[in-house]
Amino acid sequence: MAVRLPESPDAFSEAAWDEIRPYYEELVKRPLDRENVEEWLSDWSQLDSLLSEASALASFAYTCDTADPEREAAQLRLGSEIGPKAHQQRSLLQRRLVELDYVRPGLETMVQRFANQSEIFREANVPLFAQLSKLVTEWSKVNGALTVDWNGDEKTPAQLLPYLESADRLERERAFKLRAQAYLLKREVLVRLFDRMYDLRQEVAHNAGFANYRDFAHREKNRFDYTPDDCLRFHAAVEESVLPAIERILERRRHDMRLDRLRPWDTAVDPKGRPQLRPFATADELVSRSAAVLGHVDIDFRGYVNAMADAALLDLENRKAKAPGGYSSSLNFRRMPLIFMNAVGIDDDVRTMLHEAGHAFHTFETSHLALLFQRHPGAEMAEVASMSMELLSAPFIAAKDGGYYTEDEARRSRTELLEGIILFFPHCASVDAMQQWMYTNPEGRDPDARDQMWLELRRRFEGDGVDWSGLDQERIARWYQQPHFFGYPFYYIEYGIAQLGALQVWRNSRRDHKDA
Ligand SMILES: [Zn+2]
Repeated sequence: MAVRLPESPDAFSEAAWDEIRPYYEELVKRPLDRENVEEWLSDWSQLDSLLSEASALASFAYTCDTADPEREAAQLRLGSEIGPKAHQQRSLLQRRLVELDYVRPGLETMVQRFANQSEIFREANVPLFAQLSKLVTEWSKVNGALTVDWNGDEKTPAQLLPYLESADRLERERAFKLRAQAYLLKREVLVRLFDRMYDLRQEVAHNAGFANYRDFAHREKNRFDYTPDDCLRFHAAVEESVLPAIERILERRRHDMRLDRLRPWDTAVDPKGRPQLRPFATADELVSRSAAVLGHVDIDFRGYVNAMADAALLDLENRKAKAPGGYSSSLNFRRMPLIFMNAVGIDDDVRTMLHEAGHAFHTFETSHLALLFQRHPGAEMAEVASMSMELLSAPFIAAKDGGYYTEDEARRSRTELLEGIILFFPHCASVDAMQQWMYTNPEGRDPDARDQMWLELRRRFEGDGVDWSGLDQERIARWYQQPHFFGYPFYYIEYGIAQLGALQVWRNSRRDHKDA
């Protein structure tokens, strides 16, 4: 390449856009033909790998401590200033490749995505993406700062989750309401942030020639194989096929708990009154036990977990100032993944760890592919890998395999996993249906109408197995708590689609574990 690329992403971690731009401009201007296209693609892939690794590290550092002004500044520089401008350069490169009309086996999907992305790119959207990225950073900070007072102790909302498994029903109720309260008290702040995101997203869509952000997002996510109408059919299928199973699960729980009616704080506790599952006490225990469990699925997986731990690419325990949720992202230059999550010592954390490990292993297993653009399978298949890992590792979670539980506890955890899969579908349908409605109706801009629609969708998809009477506000709080509405719009139906794929992988594994 005419310009020598830096040797490491560190070169970009403090750089301004003006120091990065020349590398892209060289690729935009370099004469391009069928003779040198592979070299050009390889140089571009290497440049994107350097920059995306610097960005991923800045984002990891920031989400681990949203109260640190230096980390915030780095995140804003890489995410909000440099990110959208690099995106603009990238769309020029994508167009060049599409115009060259070059494709070979192994690059078909890449070329199809490039054509799609360059079609919807508009220069007018570059500053809007920058503003959106800033708002997401601000939203992370608002979330990281949320705390509640629990018997005189300051706790994060996530640290209340273990109390939702308490045998003491009043304690569960108190924890449930306090957690909802944390978000309700910030409703005005979250509404203001969301309204600004909403306006910007609709403007992005209009600039790109779409009627609304729903239609734009569908295209932007390279969803070539299904339409927004297919998503609506998915919602209807959840209502028709999953709801009856949910009602049976909840009725059995109500019966086991000898209650007249289940309240929302009765759904996480063990229905037979056994002690709470406590799979690990420290993040180190979570790592070593997960490495052992996953090593039984495939011997390489143990090494992958240890490699991430050795490289300090695991930040697992919840604490104040951390951004919410869990994710795995790829460091594309060194071809390693990292895992971020908010563990508080409950069974759900095991599931999250095994899920994110599935994503991380996908990164390891695709790292041999030459071009960065070939390595991401698309969100739907990425989630098949992670959701399958939850199921494939389930046989090995007991202590005899180095796992977290006694035999009896392991059985309980597996039951929770399988019931959780069924119970997840209504939530998936609610989140997707909410966004479908919001961005295609003018009332979606009205905060009160949004809250009312959320209640309506919950009633539609969740049925009557849990008695929510008198708890509308607490029920509404749930959508403010869902990171995807703010940070990852329209990333949700993928989980529903992928769960069906993961269940098929699991079915295969019941016949032949190694083969699956
Ligand atoms: Zn995932």
